Amino acid sequence: MAQDDGLRDGERAIKWCGASDARLVYIGRIRTPWTSRKDCPRQGRHDGPLCRIEIDEAWADALEGIDAYERLEVLYWLDHSRRDLVLQSPRDDGATRGTFALRSPMRPNPIGTSIVRLVEIEKTTLIVRGLDCLDGTPLLDIKPDRTLFIPPAPPTRGDYEIENP
Ligand code: SAM
Repeated sequence: MAQDDGLRDGERAIKWCGASDARLVYIGRIRTPWTSRKDCPRQGRHDGPLCRIEIDEAWADALEGIDAYERLEVLYWLDHSRRDLVLQSPRDDGATRGTFALRSPMRPNPIGTSIVRLVEIEKTTLIVRGLDCLDGTPLLDIKPDRTLFIPPAPPTRGDYEIENP
């Protein structure tokens, strides 16, 4: 049950330190069918509804070549999340766990990631399936799915290391 400070049984928050280190820039917005957190999927599905990733015009050239990838990794800022929880008790579970043992949106830096399926490109908008965020969620970054990506740079020695030298 939630208490006055919004914490459930077993949950613990730290004194929020404020945020100053990373100067992230939003590069667009994500348009989804969901306007309430309770309606959002917990994790996106590749057979889920079509969503639109609207990238700011300034980054148009950064999309060059993206059509080569059927799957993309999308990073977004879960902007309605509290950031001070160290212990969390997910509603439907009851067990208390550390924030870093969960994929909860409530984390010190509320970055969400999804692997999405690229369906179509309309100028600077990507039409995708596989998201799980609220309509209007700020976009942080897009990268090719790492399992599809072949680095253009030659491998380094470290790419072959499997044990400590
Ligand atoms: N797939 C991402 C991940 O694993 O990093 C996010 C998973 S998180 C469990 C998804 C949930 O975050 C949604 O079900 C919704 O409750 C919540 N959420 C979605 N958009 C949000 C936003 N803009 N701000 C805060 N919470 C959000």
